[in-house]
Amino acid sequence: VTPGTLTDAELLADKHDAVLLALHVGAHRHCGLAWCAITEGTVHLAECDWPQLRGWLQRIAPREVLYSADLPSAAEAELREGLAPTSLGTSAALTVRPAWVFDATLGQRKLCEQLQTASLAAWDAQALAAAQAAAAALLDYAEHTQGARLGHVRALRVVRPQENIELPATTRRNLELTQTLRGEPAPTLLSLLDTCATSMGSRLLRRWLLEPPRDRRVARQRLAALAVLRDQGVEPLRQRLRGLTDVERLTARIALRQVRPRELSGLAQTLQRCDALAQTVAELASGGDSELMTQLAESLRPPLAVAEQLTRALLPEPAALIRDGGVINDGYDAELDELRAIQANADGFLLELEARERARTGIANLRVQYNKVHGFYIEVTQGQLDKVPDDYRRRQTLKNAERFITPELKAFEDKALSAQERALAREKWLYERLLDDLQPFVPALGTLARALATLDVLVALAERSLTLQWCAPQFVPEPRIEIRQGRHPVVEARLQETGAGPFIPNDTVLDARTRMQIITGPNMGGKSTYMRQVALIVLLASMGSYVPAASCRLGPIDAIHTRIGAADDLANAQSTFMLEMTEAAQILHHASEHSLVLMDEIGRGTSTFDGLALAAAIATHLHDRVRAFTLFATHYFELTEFPTRHPGAVNVHVSAVEGKGRDIVFLHQIEPGPASRSYGVQVARLAGVPAAVVQQARHTLAQLEAESARLQRQFDLFDAAPPAPEPTDPSTPHPALQALAELDPDTLSPREALEALYRLQALLRPGA
Ligand code: ATP
Repeated sequence: VTPGTLTDAELLADKHDAVLLALHVGAHRHCGLAWCAITEGTVHLAECDWPQLRGWLQRIAPREVLYSADLPSAAEAELREGLAPTSLGTSAALTVRPAWVFDATLGQRKLCEQLQTASLAAWDAQALAAAQAAAAALLDYAEHTQGARLGHVRALRVVRPQENIELPATTRRNLELTQTLRGEPAPTLLSLLDTCATSMGSRLLRRWLLEPPRDRRVARQRLAALAVLRDQGVEPLRQRLRGLTDVERLTARIALRQVRPRELSGLAQTLQRCDALAQTVAELASGGDSELMTQLAESLRPPLAVAEQLTRALLPEPAALIRDGGVINDGYDAELDELRAIQANADGFLLELEARERARTGIANLRVQYNKVHGFYIEVTQGQLDKVPDDYRRRQTLKNAERFITPELKAFEDKALSAQERALAREKWLYERLLDDLQPFVPALGTLARALATLDVLVALAERSLTLQWCAPQFVPEPRIEIRQGRHPVVEARLQETGAGPFIPNDTVLDARTRMQIITGPNMGGKSTYMRQVALIVLLASMGSYVPAASCRLGPIDAIHTRIGAADDLANAQSTFMLEMTEAAQILHHASEHSLVLMDEIGRGTSTFDGLALAAAIATHLHDRVRAFTLFATHYFELTEFPTRHPGAVNVHVSAVEGKGRDIVFLHQIEPGPASRSYGVQVARLAGVPAAVVQQARHTLAQLEAESARLQRQFDLFDAAPPAPEPTDPSTPHPALQALAELDPDTLSPREALEALYRLQALLRPGA
């Protein structure tokens, strides 16, 4: 049992997969990844370069990582650093495996065996040698720990970086998709969405949420299915889904021969109930126009032979463990029945034998008895010995009586004495045969599990869309994020729960011409909420869900990047500001014109001028070079000048008014144009900062504002043209390169080589 190979339902969180991942680092540090949850039936493959590895590991969040014994120790240290804490808040376990198991040819063979195909062509995975090498190690380790082949692993998925909308770890955290910023499971987008009836559904929903595909076909299919479900009512299906067992994990446990009797009887009930479910789905599918529903109706057909065999084979309430017996049903196996009958009827049999023998011999006081030393015997008193028949064999002589045994009694004795042991052994044997019989159904059960999970997620999403009054998004080919009356689903739900008032919906329009919003407004005004709601709506639409808005039109999206909030990452030796800049740098490098970028108060972690200068430069880069859809919330009023020079940007602000007694009233409404002021002092007052402090702050603020107005007249933030890059003449190589080219390594002594290195380094120093 290792962290990545747990299969026991009691040791696994219902709603999480424990993922085992193997990493192969090949030439030029090109990485092959292979991962799977042992309780699930799919192996995933991917390849990336070393710098991207961290992102992959954070997305996959494995519970255990296998790596080769020949991984250099520096790389191992980096690997350790790059692992995200798992859902348990602990870091993934790292397990070294011998280098030889990371073998591409072996991996390809093992995968083909697993998938029962001749090649990996259907997945376009023949060329993924590094990933295949990782797969070899993955499957080898899984088999090694399970002591069995993974019969249930029958699917392969090659994850290509461009396939899904990129959601970096920061985005997942900042948008509180599956965990709040405090690390709690609720309230999050997942906790709001997850009304799934089964744990299979909850796990699949998490995957849908974290892996939204870029190709809109998937989302369209799901939306069409949701439309059918919404039209025809979700309640009957929800009822039918409730209480179904975790067929996905059970299938894995059947394949690994670890399944417990009670799990199997639960499976039998579930399979029977699936029949009715399948019929309902088939009716729904025929009444609506959804390819996905039709597919589901097809794959929901449960293997009823399995249900029938399980009901026949298992007692209605079997014991927890086969070890204790009491599992196999009466009437399933004649031999077991007999063994059980012997145990149950021993007394009856002896009385019956006694009566029979008394009648046969005419010995009225003949007794059939048992003792531990001599076993079963027939006792006849001295006076009656002449009536003893020929087939009686003497067993023991007493003072007044003789004890006999007959062939029939001997046979009974053999049976009875070992009946219990033999019944147990027989039950175990029968259970093993039952598991054998179930193996051919593993693929069918896997298909059923996937269909059930998909149906469960669709039903949950349909229910949410109805209950929360969401609308279907539309996908358009041109660049566009157009949301009418958008709401932040989690904040809205919280407001409703606490009765704190209605959520104020807001519109958002970003398109090829207007790609950036500079958002200003008071603290607590709702800037962060607004930005996040846009990202959440884009994400929900992309995963194929309805969205909290009156309407939504969405163009192609390749990533959602966020730089929000200030949090130290002391464990990784990064200060608030360092972290802020690292995240900003990642966004500037990775975002494209199809990305959605949220920048919340960039530059706040340093001095005003540093921060303002950086914020201005970052906004300019995003606007001019990256051209991503950008929501840029800031408290730097100077930045509201940005749109005058940058036609792709507009100012918007969240409105607030000053009420009686200078208290501020937040309207949470996004309006065009820049905010007039920031109300920071008023918010501080609302928060209970002592009156004297508020008073002094007001005074200082007035002075600062006057000073700043004067400065602004003298200095234009966006006038500072970026310095031209240093001219480089491609025809003259760097002196260090020249010196390197002139070296003749074959003629150098070790000492000379070392000196040459020093010289080369000196040439590289600035000013050299
Ligand atoms: P700061 O600048 O201090 O970070 P902010 O402008 O980002 O503040 P938010 O954190 O988005 O403000 O919002 C503060 C609170 O206002 C939210 O927790 C929520 O309760 C409420 N709020 C925000 N937007 C809305 C809305 N559209 N409708 C109703 N309430 C809202």
